[in-house]
Amino acid sequence: MRVSRLMLVTLRDDPAEAEITSHKLLLRAGYMRRLAPGIFAYLPLLWRVLQKVSAIVREEMAAVDALETLLPQLQPADLWRRSGRWDGYTAGEGIMFHLIDRQERSLGLGPTHEEVVTELAADLLGSYRQLPVCLYQIQTKFRDEIRPRFGLMRGREFIMKDAYSFHADEACLRRTYAAMDGAYRRIFERCGLRAVAVEADSGAIGGSASQEFMVTAEAGEDLILASPDGRYAANQERAVSLPAPAVPLPAGPCRTLATPDQTSIEELCDAHGFDPTQTVKVLLLLARFAAAPARGVLVCLRGDQLLNEVKLANAVTARCPDAGALLEIVPLLADHLDGPVPFGFLGPHLVDLPLRQADPRAAAAPLLRLADPSAAELEAFVCGANRVDEHLVGARWGELCPLPEVVDLRAAQPGERCLHDPSQRLEAARGIEVGHIFQLGRKYSEALEARFTNEAGEDEALWMGCYGIGVSRLAQAAVEQNHDADGIRWPVAIAPYTVIIVIASSQDPVQVALAEELYGRLLGAGIDVLLDDRPERAGVKFKDADLIGIPWRLVVGRGAGERTVELVDRSGGTGKRDLTADAALQELVERVGLQGASP
Ligand code: ATP
Ligand code: MG
Repeated sequence: MRVSRLMLVTLRDDPAEAEITSHKLLLRAGYMRRLAPGIFAYLPLLWRVLQKVSAIVREEMAAVDALETLLPQLQPADLWRRSGRWDGYTAGEGIMFHLIDRQERSLGLGPTHEEVVTELAADLLGSYRQLPVCLYQIQTKFRDEIRPRFGLMRGREFIMKDAYSFHADEACLRRTYAAMDGAYRRIFERCGLRAVAVEADSGAIGGSASQEFMVTAEAGEDLILASPDGRYAANQERAVSLPAPAVPLPAGPCRTLATPDQTSIEELCDAHGFDPTQTVKVLLLLARFAAAPARGVLVCLRGDQLLNEVKLANAVTARCPDAGALLEIVPLLADHLDGPVPFGFLGPHLVDLPLRQADPRAAAAPLLRLADPSAAELEAFVCGANRVDEHLVGARWGELCPLPEVVDLRAAQPGERCLHDPSQRLEAARGIEVGHIFQLGRKYSEALEARFTNEAGEDEALWMGCYGIGVSRLAQAAVEQNHDADGIRWPVAIAPYTVIIVIASSQDPVQVALAEELYGRLLGAGIDVLLDDRPERAGVKFKDADLIGIPWRLVVGRGAGERTVELVDRSGGTGKRDLTADAALQELVERVGLQGASP
């Protein structure tokens, strides 16, 4: 391709809309343009990158016997109602774009395809003899993200590879899951990414294994907690650890302590010399559901601990199975209640609350009471007295009130000891989630009645797995990991072009003739090559070549008469060298002849 025909528009300055480096570089280097928040045009250079990533994905999917397909993006609401996700995805988190067609039918624009693919499986898969099966597609997904940002990292329209597998039993699901794990590692490695696998939150589905692949980068939105020995790594949403040991409270009967205006753990501890680990803090929350009255939630945590909201949402969902989708959990405020509540002085023994009649649905269920082990394990503790300006010292579970149901709700923190080996301490790193593999079990097949006849002739629900890769996010993550002050440094395997020939002076017929000859010979060797034939100054062309990040640059300049050229290795480390044109060509063919070919 000739750069003069490429519609290449590069920007000298960082666009105001971009915050992180990869986003700035992709805009500046002419890879994409924003149409609206989270909605981007993928320009021809980026499209080539996405095609190269997709080609690698396709090869690795074929290697694990996954079949490519293409499923509808317009999806009937009814299907999502049957799986129980319509309300959560529309009214709740509101991530699904939805619309009503001219026949007054509700439709959603696919944010993901579990429903559609399970419906197909229900129709097509009837016998164990057809199993296992794995389908995948590479397609645009739509998600009305609350905070679309960082360019392709969190788009509202983005490209995903999603795969779904169906099995006769759990063991077979596990084998495919393991094979996908291997395929994913190969995909990220082949794309030139440094990615780590971490334990991930499985959502409210419970029990099932799930693993995310994180590209480590400062700009990542996810926090990874990992042990230095490499044996444990998890998304913070899911991570577990041993909290610091609590300082025991001196023995003695439970007594009341005057604590005027001491509404925070810090103020309380400062005033009376307690250690935060001697206290129990009580959080009062309101959970709203799609199909049930809102419910008050009382959470007890040790005073020095922080709540993990993902763990709480999972715990609440699991305990309210008939409430429909969990829409949100918000702090419970005085406005929600009839009668005074001693906020700042709450204790675990708080009686069920008079929820305000204006919110009549909320009056129905008693408080859901949960305690994190860090609080449950305290023998005696300091807590609010449920009276303004008073706390209790030396309270005990059983005496004060029954111990609530114990469930892990605390956020693990860097520096804490690991469960598998307490001498190991969690270290934090930031990551960009580029993939997620998941053992779904039978959640969708049961809801949508995707059943088959097993070897014994009995009817049962299919076992399912699902496996996603954010193809467009991956492309930008590659830039986040591979750039320098001058621009992008694409890994060769996913670079839009492998070689760029720069004609230093387009006025010089000798230079033009040699460049054209090399261009033709590289094309003939099957190498993706760009020819910068623009009538620009050499410096401008060099800057653009660095910015767009083509791995190899061949400069045809003053040495053209003697058939010498300069070869620059942008992505690797060999720097600039003067060579004869033939030697340069031979080196390129040897080094990138195979991997640089068009997908
Ligand atoms: P996140 O936690 O980042 O929102 P997710 O858990 O919603 O991701 P999945 O539903 O598992 O993501 O989707 C599969 C993959 O699609 C993710 O691993 C990610 O790489 C990509 N992805 C998800 N949401 C977006 C988005 N808004 N823009 C670009 N890529 C995305
Ligand atoms: Mg998401």
